Amino acid sequence: MALVLADLDGFKFVNDSMGHTEGDRLLSAVSARLAAVVRPGDLVARLGGDEFALVCADVDERGAVAIAERVLRALAPPVALAHRQVVPHASIGVAVHDPVPATPGTPSTEPRSAAATVYDVVLDEQVRRRLAIEQGLRAALTAGRLTLAYQPVVDLTTGRIHGIEALVRWFDDELGHVSPGEFVPVAEQSDLVCRLDAWVLRTATAQLVRWTTAGLTEPDRMGVNLSARNFAEPHLSERVAATLRETGCPPGRVLVEITESLLTDGLGPASVRELLDLGLEVAIDDFGVGFSSLGQLKRVPFSYLKIDRSFISGLLSDPIDGAIVRSTLALARELGKQSIAEGVETVEQLRELQRLGCGIVQGYLLGSPADAATMTRWLEHGLDVPIDQLLAARPPTP
Ligand code: C2E
Ligand code: MG
Ligand code: MG
Repeated sequence: MALVLADLDGFKFVNDSMGHTEGDRLLSAVSARLAAVVRPGDLVARLGGDEFALVCADVDERGAVAIAERVLRALAPPVALAHRQVVPHASIGVAVHDPVPATPGTPSTEPRSAAATVYDVVLDEQVRRRLAIEQGLRAALTAGRLTLAYQPVVDLTTGRIHGIEALVRWFDDELGHVSPGEFVPVAEQSDLVCRLDAWVLRTATAQLVRWTTAGLTEPDRMGVNLSARNFAEPHLSERVAATLRETGCPPGRVLVEITESLLTDGLGPASVRELLDLGLEVAIDDFGVGFSSLGQLKRVPFSYLKIDRSFISGLLSDPIDGAIVRSTLALARELGKQSIAEGVETVEQLRELQRLGCGIVQGYLLGSPADAATMTRWLEHGLDVPIDQLLAARPPTP
């Protein structure tokens, strides 16, 4: 069986600053939530002050950790007190008692320290952070506090901006700047990521229309990332079409970037085809780092392969990365698709990609993700980098 101890953090603060009635109200709210976490027959007790105990039968170590996670999850939503909302935080400890076969002369019911596991503090921190991110992101989305960064994607054969990728940004008052590399995977565990991606599509295409209305001729297209989860939701293409009608953006000017892992879960191909039928372009993002087999490229229609930046970073230093980049370029060519190299950071990488016939590149060298004002300046006056000078003598345009 498992013993879970929960100790409320900051309870004294509530008592001192808001009074004991409010403190009591918080304690009853917490009790009710704890009681909802366990099975009937398990014990939930208040040990005194701000300490609670849960005793759960027939639970092993993994089960006990799962209960601790459920406790953290249950406590995460704010409790409404008379004048303000309080988010109850708890420190949690877990001990698991393995019944030891009784040997003569030893009491078998005594929890032995060897059989007791203390809840991993690191896991606790991780679970907490995940919850804080999920809640914060939900709130930010609702309150319209997310922003977009725009990164140029450059066509080396013309020197023009081929497109722009919209990348979501989130600054939270408490968590500070959280990177999409951290919060997108959290959002992907719920419907949150679909709301997020829908917001990005709307905002980015509205911005593209604004640039066009202002008389700017570049770029032709806006790239938006769509998480695999979108492709499992019904009516994706209808919703995308409705959004584009609303913002007035022609579907042909939208490049949907999907990660390769989409190909493995079997749900996507039909919805991808529907997006293509609408007129959108499709890129396979982060190519080479997912788990799909090459054979699955047959099942999903696409226009571009984006070569993951991990391979570009080793292009000139690691023979394996070099081989992967060259084979991917050859594969795309054979399939009649275009390649986009991600994460180009040096002139040497740029020249090598140009030499290998990779026509389209993206990376800090050409322009880091920037706000709309900076992008407007780039669209009006050109990028800050002299692409012509960076390139080796450009091969003649076919
Ligand atoms: P991604 O779609 O592959 O986006 C490219 C990432 O590489 C971006 O990271 C960009 O800032 C970064 N990058 C661009 N050039 C360079 C370079 O030269 N060097 C290096 N080291 N990095 C470079 P970011 O913005 O942190 O986004 C990370 C990932 O989060 C994205 O990878 C994408 O998978 C996901 N993401 C971002 N925005 C969205 C979104 O709106 N929806 C969804 N579903 N995912 C998003
Ligand atoms: Mg992308
Ligand atoms: Mg990528």
